[in-house]
Amino acid sequence: MYHGEFFTMPTRLLLLALAACLSVAGQPAAHQALPAPISADTLKAHVSFLASDALQGRDTPSAGLDVAAEYIASQFRRYGLQAAGSDGYFQVAPYVMVRQPMDAFELTIESGGKTWKAPKDRVAASTAAAVSLSSVEVVKVLLPDENAALPAKETVQGKAVVLVSGPAHSRAMLQRRQELLGLGPAIVVTAGFVGSSDGELRQAGAQSAPRAPLVTTSDPEFTAFAQALADGARLSATIPAPVEEPVTLKNVIATLPGSDAQLKDSYVLLTAHYDHIGVSPRGDGDRINNGANDDASGVATVLALAEAFSKLPQRPRRTLVFMTYFGEEKGLLGSRWYASNPVVPLASTVANLNFEHMGRTDDNEGSRAGRITTTGFDYTTLGDTLSAAGKLTGMEVWKHDRNSDSFFARSDNQALADAGVPAITVLAAWIFPDYHRPSDHWDRLDYDNMRNAVATGAIAVSRVADSTEAPQWIESNPKVAKYLKAWRELHGMH
Ligand SMILES: [Zn+2]
Repeated sequence: MYHGEFFTMPTRLLLLALAACLSVAGQPAAHQALPAPISADTLKAHVSFLASDALQGRDTPSAGLDVAAEYIASQFRRYGLQAAGSDGYFQVAPYVMVRQPMDAFELTIESGGKTWKAPKDRVAASTAAAVSLSSVEVVKVLLPDENAALPAKETVQGKAVVLVSGPAHSRAMLQRRQELLGLGPAIVVTAGFVGSSDGELRQAGAQSAPRAPLVTTSDPEFTAFAQALADGARLSATIPAPVEEPVTLKNVIATLPGSDAQLKDSYVLLTAHYDHIGVSPRGDGDRINNGANDDASGVATVLALAEAFSKLPQRPRRTLVFMTYFGEEKGLLGSRWYASNPVVPLASTVANLNFEHMGRTDDNEGSRAGRITTTGFDYTTLGDTLSAAGKLTGMEVWKHDRNSDSFFARSDNQALADAGVPAITVLAAWIFPDYHRPSDHWDRLDYDNMRNAVATGAIAVSRVADSTEAPQWIESNPKVAKYLKAWRELHGMH
């Protein structure tokens, strides 16, 4: 759905709303006028650049991602924010890209007078070191479902395992496979999906747990061959060692120091991920996944908040930290990195508002115009803070009965929540028609609605930043127990 009508709500109204809020909060007169930098055009400018084809879908790692990082840093520079990374605004994270060369790959299994030779174009191999096996005894292991018992260690140790497992690739099933690899077989060969993986990202210096080599094949002939495997079958294989290439990834971090002598040593984190999923390896026509709503819209939100707060005549009392992450789409890499390497103490970090999907209103379940929502809506007091802010901007702040909890782990707030920091993701739409597709284009966002959503966020942030009371995990919610435990540990309580 395309939204061509912008500017339906005069900026002035928002200003009045902001002023009203700030006077309700009992702040000094200096707080009562924001210089109105949150405009639909500003948001559109950020999103249209970040989601342009020139950035090639901002895969982690990629040149397009680096250009996005430079753009974000240049905006922080323009607002006069303090650099808080290890290299100016960049928090540099050393990673390696681990690739498996397949040129010299060979694998054959001989069974009952027949030979199966692994076809290179239908095979994925994962090994920590070079493999050279010659006529190794084969044992067949059946794991029909995730409750099936693993074989005894002695039966597989040093042998070549042909694994015939159930079709469900659930997390539990993958876990069973990991356990099997840990029993010390010489190699495990199994049927499965083989994508066009161009490597695996790993933190530099991090050793992966020692485990057996795993070969997955999508060759349909393998399945029949494995089913009919005869006694005395033998496997031979040559797999080259993986190749590691250093990769530098970056979170982009800036701070706006607080104005209050005490509260300035406490922090409110405002975050979004600036990566997306890059260019699809195959398909007809447009293959660039532009990631406009996911999550150029969140980055634009963080930038707009940074600009708005940096232009206030009097800064908020707590310090605001503006941060955009790499690698969310690869499994929350940037936020996990930050939580392990925080630039301000996590114990003094009172809240994290993470922003995703702020621009689209055409949710698969229906229109979300005039509404914003959060994950973990009733996990923390931040849900109520946003609801109060919405009363001033006219945005309805609502809880989705199912998604509120089930989406909590699907974005970067999770990494901070695990560390104990009250952390939620704020969004307008959950899943929308172009989600993770090349058609997630910048011209499909409703920027007028987005400006109101961002202004609602701004009011909530302003309240958290100016209040002496820090946001809390809601103890009465049983789903919060592990985060509350982490929060207590973070604050030296047991
Ligand atoms: Zn996202």
